[in-house]
Amino acid sequence: MNAGDKPAFPGGWLYDLDRVTLGRHLVAMGLPDYAATQVFQWLYKQREPEISNWTNIARAHRKVLAETFCSTLPRVEKESRDSAGTRKILLRLLDGKGVEAVWIPGEGRSTICISTQVGCVMGCSFCATGAMGFERNLSMGEILAQVLVLARFQSEAGERLNIVFMGMGEPLLNPRAVMGALAVMTGDPGMRIPDRHITISTVGLLEPLAELEQRFPRVRISLSLHAADEATRRRLMPKAALLHSIDQLLAYFSQPRHFPVTFEYVLIRGINTSRAHARRLAARLAPIPGKINLIPVNPVPGCPFAAPSPAEEDTFLRILVSAGLSVTVRRSRGRDIQSACGQLAGEAGGRV
Ligand code: SAH
Ligand code: SF4
Repeated sequence: MNAGDKPAFPGGWLYDLDRVTLGRHLVAMGLPDYAATQVFQWLYKQREPEISNWTNIARAHRKVLAETFCSTLPRVEKESRDSAGTRKILLRLLDGKGVEAVWIPGEGRSTICISTQVGCVMGCSFCATGAMGFERNLSMGEILAQVLVLARFQSEAGERLNIVFMGMGEPLLNPRAVMGALAVMTGDPGMRIPDRHITISTVGLLEPLAELEQRFPRVRISLSLHAADEATRRRLMPKAALLHSIDQLLAYFSQPRHFPVTFEYVLIRGINTSRAHARRLAARLAPIPGKINLIPVNPVPGCPFAAPSPAEEDTFLRILVSAGLSVTVRRSRGRDIQSACGQLAGEAGGRV
């Protein structure tokens, strides 16, 4: 979809409309409300953007829909693929901005990693998106479109999906669009993806997080912690660390919840990987039901940070495990195509 490719559509872009709003539009146009359910089924179940192919809707109604709404998905401008089949795309948005998203194949279930903003205001010192600065929030439709475009890579129609909000941007700085997209992803009519297969990764903005968890209590939450002391967290996440203290974050996740949180901890040699760091992390997290995901830092151009040696990583892991914590280590896929965690940067790095 290019700016200038199409005439103005008075009803706007269909992917930006929730089911209720679309129903109101359709009723105002003289169509029945149930036509909104049919439209949702075509968009999100059949994944068919071409209105003329919506055969269970009367031809005259299809004509008026096509005159009123745009249903074109953003254009895939570039695509790259690594040896394991991970595929990264750059989507060109209506205003010319680019956003990256990643498809990761898996046994019977692939994972789609999506972005919520173009750039990010948080400026975490180890993240390529943070280095871009913030450009704008994505709309609900722009978030959903990433899933629809990447789902085309699925090998079979019945293959199931995991969705992870771990691409560009901080989801809870764009909560309205993110929650709107979650409603369509989990809804029927909608994509009907079970909410437990969706993960939101956040630096921890507790107000929008509480609202999101109230509306979608089974969506998995990953908290980007990265440090067990304030000074180190401020060094790595200068803005996020000002929002809430580690104490406040841990108090929030100590409350009863449907699913335990996953604490994400990027391992950066010489910064947060010593034995003392591991012991402090173990002491702070031991009382809280949750898992720890260690992520050896992925290389980001212009950033001097490096992952610890295997021996240092192993020592860190053992200290946590011997404190009784449940720990996994994320071996990022797609590093060679710059599509692993923290490596998405739209066009800023020109690396697709
Ligand atoms: N803004 C959200 C979600 C997007 S980042 C957040 O920060 O949680 C998704 C995950 O990638 C976060 O845990 C983030 O800390 C991690 N990440 C960012 N840069 C990284 C890098 N260079 N190497 C490894 N993980 C990184
Ligand atoms: Fe933003 Fe997350 Fe990157 Fe920090 S790690 S700059 S919050 S995208």
